[in-house]
Amino acid sequence: MKVMDSAFAQSFVKFADDGWNRGYHERNGGNLSYRIPTEEVEAVKEDLDFSRPFTDIGTDVPALAGEYFMVTGSGKYFSNILAAPRDNCCIIEVDSEGKKYRILWGLEKGGKPTSELPTHLMNHEVKKLATNGKSRLIYHCHPVNIIAMSCVLPLTDRDFTLALWQNMTECAIVFGEGVGVIPWMVCGGREIAVETAKKIAKYNVVVWAQHGLFCAGADFDETFGLAHTVEKSAEIYVKIYSMTGGKAPRQVITNENLKELQGLAEFFGAKISPEFMD
Ligand SMILES: [Zn+2]
Repeated sequence: MKVMDSAFAQSFVKFADDGWNRGYHERNGGNLSYRIPTEEVEAVKEDLDFSRPFTDIGTDVPALAGEYFMVTGSGKYFSNILAAPRDNCCIIEVDSEGKKYRILWGLEKGGKPTSELPTHLMNHEVKKLATNGKSRLIYHCHPVNIIAMSCVLPLTDRDFTLALWQNMTECAIVFGEGVGVIPWMVCGGREIAVETAKKIAKYNVVVWAQHGLFCAGADFDETFGLAHTVEKSAEIYVKIYSMTGGKAPRQVITNENLKELQGLAEFFGAKISPEFMD
């Protein structure tokens, strides 16, 4: 089968286009990677080229040795992915030591995988180990309202988690473990990758101050839905404080309400972390 005839590649492209249509990807902002299951790689193997040389990843990811990923390209625009996936995305293979990668498909007109590849792969490694292999996507985007919040709120996991939980009931169920926050750092390097990986071990959402979001998930719908839910709550937060002129709103979901919600969360197989409810 050709790569673009596969369900995973079509889901990848749709995901990227949904992100573009939501306004999360100005210019070449954002990146996406999918750890491809063995059977999905096997199904498209006739379309893969194993002749290209391996290149250093820039970090070690031994738990990802021999894994395959579909990844957006460095400097490529999400707005172009739907029309020309082969020019803007690639499939890579990680070598047997987890130190190098090579391109097997895509980036037909040249280019490299996303400049955030070290962060993506380190996050994939952490999530693969933490979820017994279930987590398969890492998504980075630049939504307006979460970035605006990061210019105003204290940059703590607690402040962001409560601010995002308090305005909309589904939030504590969708991201019941809360959200992690890291302060502004230079992106694209190993240092921000290490800090993000520490947070993503505990959460599925990490806010990069004055930059955007990193989200992890098991499938395309869940991962995009997570980013969308976080950003929607952030938009409500921004609207509330714009309406009140910066004053606290008259009513929000209280910690007591969150405790009452725990039963419903458990019904959906989720759990609201008690860490933030005291
Ligand atoms: Zn970015």
